[in-house]
Amino acid sequence: MRNLKVNDTVKVIAGKEKGKTAKLLKIFSPQGRAIAEGLNIIKRATRPSKINPQGGIVSKEGFIHLSNLILVCPRCKKPSRSGRKSLSDGTKVRVCKKCGEII
Ligand SMILES: [Zn+2]
Repeated sequence: MRNLKVNDTVKVIAGKEKGKTAKLLKIFSPQGRAIAEGLNIIKRATRPSKINPQGGIVSKEGFIHLSNLILVCPRCKKPSRSGRKSLSDGTKVRVCKKCGEII
């Protein structure tokens, strides 16, 4: 799962959000966790503050474990295992194992 990058489209393969796709917003590699747009929304009651004088309920994305996510290929639109390939100039790129697209 170290192949995932921010802005990747990912599909959830386990947990309560299973089957959904979303865009990766943040990755916390040391913890193996990530935040994806609209996934795992948690609602928190907040106390009134200067920024939010009323207080109230704030929804935000919660962490999701990287092992629960799989990359979706932007070309063939399928959840894909990604591979690595070296280009002729030595640059390493990530490729879709299904269609060969550099992703
Ligand atoms: Zn593909």
